[in-house]
Amino acid sequence: MCAFRQDRTPIPEETTDERKATFGQVLQPYTEGEAVLEAARCLQCAMPFCVQACPITQDCRGYIDLVAKRRFDEAARLVLRDNPLGTVLCKTCYHYCEEDCVKGGRGDPIAIRHLKRASLELGNTPPLYEPPKDLKGERVAVVGAGPAGVMASWDLALRGYSVTVFEAQAFAGGQTTTIPKYHLAGDELPKDLARFQKLGIRWEMGKKAGVDFTPEGLLEQGFLAVYLAMGASNPRRLGIPGEDLPGVFYALPFLLAINAGTEGLFGRKDRRVLVIGGGDVALDAARSARRLAADGQVTLVYRRSEEDMRASDEEHLGGEIEGVRFLFERAPVEIRGDGHVGSMVLRRTELAPPDPQGKRVLVEVPGSDETLDCDTIIVAAGEVMDTHGLPPELELKPSRHGWPEGVRPKHMTAVEGIFASGGQSVVYAMEAGAQAAQAIDAYLSQKKGRPTTPRPDPFGGAAPAELPAGYGGPTWNL
Ligand SMILES: Cc1cc2nc3c(=O)[nH]c(=O)nc-3n(C[C@H](O)[C@H](O)[C@H](O)COP(=O)(O)OP(=O)(O)OC[C@H]3O[C@@H](n4cnc5c(N)ncnc54)[C@H](O)[C@@H]3O)c2cc1C
Ligand code: SF4
Ligand code: SF4
Repeated sequence: MCAFRQDRTPIPEETTDERKATFGQVLQPYTEGEAVLEAARCLQCAMPFCVQACPITQDCRGYIDLVAKRRFDEAARLVLRDNPLGTVLCKTCYHYCEEDCVKGGRGDPIAIRHLKRASLELGNTPPLYEPPKDLKGERVAVVGAGPAGVMASWDLALRGYSVTVFEAQAFAGGQTTTIPKYHLAGDELPKDLARFQKLGIRWEMGKKAGVDFTPEGLLEQGFLAVYLAMGASNPRRLGIPGEDLPGVFYALPFLLAINAGTEGLFGRKDRRVLVIGGGDVALDAARSARRLAADGQVTLVYRRSEEDMRASDEEHLGGEIEGVRFLFERAPVEIRGDGHVGSMVLRRTELAPPDPQGKRVLVEVPGSDETLDCDTIIVAAGEVMDTHGLPPELELKPSRHGWPEGVRPKHMTAVEGIFASGGQSVVYAMEAGAQAAQAIDAYLSQKKGRPTTPRPDPFGGAAPAELPAGYGGPTWNL
């Protein structure tokens, strides 16, 4: 057991056979011994690049040290100090920290995300977050209860604001509720939100901005600031003939329906399924379809090459192990069928020669069409914002990934006091929520002529949470 060991302590996984037809969790927890063994590999770097790479400044170096010393209760508390969605993130985070871990230079990076899970599952987590001593009584509205909205609500409530969350759905979680159960069993978000009880946040579920209220209307009702954390929920269409035929699904409603238990979505087990897209959502759709169409064939079709696929290595490898077929450099051209999807026409793509700026764009190759028989198509071409019913005065612009953003500095919209942002993964959305909370606190503090309020220790400690020594990154909690 020493810090010079380069190989990672293997993370236990379900076997390929176990994965074939069930949605059981693929990654299994470390035992206590395995967790301690893995944590002992950490060099406890003076300059913690892992912490610097984490969008929410999670003190991973600190909790790894505590795990190595078998101080699991303290490790759990440290995780939850900066991370109110720790139970969700320890299974879903794309672990940006591990990409920058110095151990990765000569061997495997430390299994930082899996040690977060070990901290929370082996330690006794503190039951509840404590409300701050100084309540300001100023009302702030958060629209959307996805990771960005939840993080902003937590942070603002800790800074003493009186927070009300308006959520269009009957449940919180946003896109995390579509994450397949082989990643997230479903009880993780309720566990995290149960710690919010004493923070006094009001949850108004089933209330949709643009239908039941407007953001400006909230200002008129006495809210001093509004944060729009609405994500991107409308599927991007392919825009090709035949897209409205029965048998064509969009990834988000398809995955949500599976999580709700309607697995009868696929009538037969010998389906021939085509999934269109190359991101993590496309892989989740393909891996889920693979489990439903156990004797069928699932093929993922992507416009670009394998090297250009946006999906994480973990998802890509998972798809390969589970028997998803991959067809690269093919663009969808037409969906054919007589009253139901029957086939899809694909055209080969290639990169054009470099233009004068050296840029190579993707072009379709004329005369290269091929037809694939299929009876189900799942479109996973991304999502765009749904701003239906929202006033144009907000001047919301879509981010590159589709969620609405404010046009002014710190994501304030064109209407003073209304902010909007989101993120392309759970932890990036949480970073956006933390930034929004900091911006709202700065905005209201300036208006009231008082200093800003740093985020206090959420477990009622006397001083605000300290940043890890050697850390030189951004500080959303100040
Ligand atoms: C299938 C799938 C798998 C994923 N897997 C992972 C993963 O493994 N790891 C990872 O890090 N990320 C993953 N992601 C991405 C991650 O879930 C998102 O990046 C994150 O949820 C975005 O958070 P958000 O709060 O910005 O938006 P959302 O999660 O979309 O939340 C927005 C919320 O606002 C609500 N809302 C929208 N419009 C209104 C309105 N007008 N009025 C009131 N409420 C409204 C919505 O109902 C929703 O609850 C996955 C996404 C999908 C779709
Ligand atoms: S939240 Fe994600 S990026 Fe941050 S330390 Fe945990 S696994 Fe790493
Ligand atoms: S960079 Fe890696 S080795 Fe260094 S403190 Fe972070 S986890 Fe440990």
